[in-house]
Amino acid sequence: MHIKELVLDDFKSFGRKTRIPFYRDFTTISGPNGSGKSNIIDAVLFALGLARTSGIRADKLTDLIYNPGHEGESDDFDGEREASVEVILDNRDDTLDRSQVVSAAGTEDVGDVAEIAIRRRVKQTDEETYYSYYYLNGRSVNLSDIQDLLAQAGVTPEGYNVVMQGDVTEIITMTAGRRREIIDEIAGVAEFDAKKADAFEE
Ligand code: ATP
Ligand code: MG
Repeated sequence: MHIKELVLDDFKSFGRKTRIPFYRDFTTISGPNGSGKSNIIDAVLFALGLARTSGIRADKLTDLIYNPGHEGESDDFDGEREASVEVILDNRDDTLDRSQVVSAAGTEDVGDVAEIAIRRRVKQTDEETYYSYYYLNGRSVNLSDIQDLLAQAGVTPEGYNVVMQGDVTEIITMTAGRRREIIDEIAGVAEFDAKKADAFEE
């Protein structure tokens, strides 16, 4: 399974509908500083429910909505606004089988599972109120449904699926013990260590 395409609409610096294709093995995105490369990664983390707002460099979800006066002072609320990100996964290798998609969507009517579309919207209705919605192949679902589905493919919020800017430097400079914890996490040993610790406590 791999990401086939991203569709961003009013997400961060993407002020109009933008489709970004991804290739099966390797895709590189290049551009000047501040051109929106990291925002593309933030979009993936946002749509798949993989990060807290701090992880996608925002104080609150509504900061993710395109704001033409982003760097300026015009931050006043003037009418309903929303951002949307869709991640289209190529699942032709059946990483996620039909029954998993059906159970996550809560209906048999999920269409073709060779292509899985996960979409998230954040909608602001007034100064203080906003709503967040997730969709799986067009069906409204909960975050936990998306997370359960992606966990089948080894993609989890706690996992190391995304190496962020600065992560490599952090790994190099951290203590050996902390580095070992990361390796344990990746190798799947950490889970057993946690269970062992629980057992000893009992
Ligand atoms: P670098 O090479 O420095 O890492 P980058 O290509 O990764 O740069 P990003 O961090 O993705 O750049 O983009 C930063 C830009 O996104 C900034 O110019 C910032 O103003 C803009 N931006 C962030 N949030 C919004 C928003 N809600 N509305 C409009 N622009 C935004
Ligand atoms: Mg960047």
